Amino acid sequence: MRRSLALRTRRLLDAGVFAPSAAPPPNGPRPSAEACRPARPVVQLLYLRYLASCPIEEIQCVTQTRRRVRCSAKVLGSGALRGVWGLVPVSVQRGQLALPSDVMAVYSLSALPYQEQLRWRSQRCLQHDATATAGDLAVADWEPFDPLRHHEHIHTRLPSHRRRPGPSSHTPRQAHS
Ligand SMILES: [Zn+2]
Repeated sequence: MRRSLALRTRRLLDAGVFAPSAAPPPNGPRPSAEACRPARPVVQLLYLRYLASCPIEEIQCVTQTRRRVRCSAKVLGSGALRGVWGLVPVSVQRGQLALPSDVMAVYSLSALPYQEQLRWRSQRCLQHDATATAGDLAVADWEPFDPLRHHEHIHTRLPSHRRRPGPSSHTPRQAHS
């Protein structure tokens, strides 16, 4: 019984009657756009490359507010000049190590005015950059980028365009290694 059923199924499959179950579902898995957003981007400012501790739009102001808590504003606040993503050669300054990729994605702030690049490096929001007297509660956490030590943070493709954050488009962040 089972055998004849299998035979019959096989014949129908051969005849193309059954839609094969392996066909992609209409709401199939989306392309992994999230994976293209580096968790720790490489940022170029003041002629140097730094490894950021978090995604660009999450870099937080280090200033202590009058309530003695850390300012919650972001360095890339509204009204701030934006950098541009680009693919640049991975320059290894020491050693002879051949890297698997020769270009990497870098968020460049080089086109921004000098003062603005200083603001990024001191990691202050627009408001606190204008308030020179405000002290810092945290230390700016730029790490000088080293292509050998930080090779796992080298991305050979540009980040895909971000979708606007909305109630339905939120995806839990995954750790990509
Ligand atoms: Zn601030």
